Amino acid sequence: MFTSIRWRIVFPYTLIILATTLGLTSYISHQVRNARQADLETRLLAEARLMSHAIVDPLAAADVATLDAQAKQWSMASGDRVTIVGIEGTVLGESHADRETMDNHLYRDEIWQAVRKGQGMAIRFSRTLDADLMYVAVLVSREAVSTRAITGAATYSGVGQPVGVVRVALPLDEIEANISRLSRNIMVAGLVTVLLAIGVAFYIASRTVRPVRELIKVVEDMAEGNMRLRFLATTRDEIGQLMRAFNHMADQLREKVTTLARERSRLSAVLRNMADGVIITSDLGEVILINHAATRMLRTDEDHAVGRSFAQVVYKHQLIELWNRCQQTGKEQTVTVETGMEGLFLQAVATPLHDPVSSRMLIIIRDLTQVRRLETVRRDFISNISHELRTPLASLALVVETLKDGAVDEPEIARHFLTHMETELSALTQMVEELLELSRIESGRVPLDIHAVPVDALMNRPFERLLPQAERAGLTLSNSMPDDLPLVLADGVRIQQVVANLLHNAIKFTPPGGAVTVFAKVEEMQAGEGAEVIIGVTDTGVGISAGDLPRIFERFYKADRARSGGGTGLGLAIAKHIIQGHNGRIWAESIEGVGSTFYFSLPVASSEL
Ligand code: ADP
Repeated sequence: MFTSIRWRIVFPYTLIILATTLGLTSYISHQVRNARQADLETRLLAEARLMSHAIVDPLAAADVATLDAQAKQWSMASGDRVTIVGIEGTVLGESHADRETMDNHLYRDEIWQAVRKGQGMAIRFSRTLDADLMYVAVLVSREAVSTRAITGAATYSGVGQPVGVVRVALPLDEIEANISRLSRNIMVAGLVTVLLAIGVAFYIASRTVRPVRELIKVVEDMAEGNMRLRFLATTRDEIGQLMRAFNHMADQLREKVTTLARERSRLSAVLRNMADGVIITSDLGEVILINHAATRMLRTDEDHAVGRSFAQVVYKHQLIELWNRCQQTGKEQTVTVETGMEGLFLQAVATPLHDPVSSRMLIIIRDLTQVRRLETVRRDFISNISHELRTPLASLALVVETLKDGAVDEPEIARHFLTHMETELSALTQMVEELLELSRIESGRVPLDIHAVPVDALMNRPFERLLPQAERAGLTLSNSMPDDLPLVLADGVRIQQVVANLLHNAIKFTPPGGAVTVFAKVEEMQAGEGAEVIIGVTDTGVGISAGDLPRIFERFYKADRARSGGGTGLGLAIAKHIIQGHNGRIWAESIEGVGSTFYFSLPVASSEL
């Protein structure tokens, strides 16, 4: 209950008022009691004095009957209890009891005081009346008699001869009743004050607490992400100051949060679009962050990886060892890994992130597959070109040697050698020309003369040109093309060159008895981008292995050197560049031992004409 500020204000208030009321009641009761008792004492004293004058003689004569009657009579008149005691202590008159049964009263407090000092007062419980009484006693004296002669031990030195003591007593009930009435009244007034004070305290506390409650609500809303809420600070007191300070803090906080969010989204955009894989691990080796590139390279996904151990995410033992080495040495470590199935070649660099609280680690994974492939292509290119040049050059050197050694003098043989030299030279010339052409096409120096042309104009010429060659090779060459094909956008000469190359390859790689077919068809492109014409050459030849298939469009790449014979390995590379220059695609499908199909696409021209 006292956790609320309101109660913390109200409770002490109530306590203070209650304590004050109680203290006040007790103090006032005490004062009133004293005052009333003093009044009573004065009155009783006056009455006793009055009586003392009237009973000097009967006392001196010890006239018990008169004294007793007198006591009763006075008592009747005043309502007080009246006792008359002889100087030696014998009760000689008593209003409220039988005097003969009463013991000696000399040493009653008030009587002893009266004997010694002339008057005395005592408050005590009277067994006779069963109540608290105030007793007031006065010494009754006769003129010119020595006190010492009568009492023996008395020290009273008043004038006259003491003959006895008259005592007047009254119960204190009335005073007590008055006082308890007074206390009750004070208590009631106190209680009313307490209730009023509680009300006021509640009001003040509520007013004080209201803005605090508002503050709590706004802070809670803010914690839930609503950073726009502000206070309307209307007062100039501490609460108003607090609200203004809070508003200022909220502004700063919002600015910081916005900046952080912007930075974060920038960072995550960079991470998302980075080609390199990024992983951050905790000091326990748990993956805290993994970007898209890393999930792609490691064949995982972010939801699976985050929170798991690095070893569970990467699998590869080289990468796990890299992490361990970096953790142990605290220094940057590098490793290259080849992933068998996916054929990826990865380089991973682990760097400790030296922050003061933890030893987190940054692992960057670079996909070098493409770089390595290009490297292989370059190596193969050099090796292929050397090989392609060496064979005809060696053959030429041999022929020249033979001619020099005398064959030149024998016209028949010389002519044969010269024909051979011519063939080799023309092969070399063709290779150099193809290389030059490829280089020109690759660097975009060959302008394409693109027009809307009918598809048969692209296919018939090469078909007819290669028909004799197919027949010589014992193959069936057929043309399967619908009549209603639309016009395509193409450089006729270049596309004929591509078709001829595909036909040439199909004939070269198909054993006798096989079949080669050229075909064309229209296909709708995705997402309503119009249509394209697909032209293809299919054969029943040796086919291409799955390993070689992705590489056959590279320069000088030959899947099967023995079979490719005089080919340069440049034909498909040139075809690829020509088709790409037409905004088309070129690809191949093949099953080893069954046959291959080469396709390329050309944009349809009809819609633009
Ligand atoms: P080449 O001058 O050797 O024919 P290409 O660039 O035209 O050069 O072809 C590259 C390689 O692709 C060939 O060496 C061959 O291994 C393979 N290839 C091309 N066409 C076919 C096909 N129709 N059937 C089987 N293999 C083929």
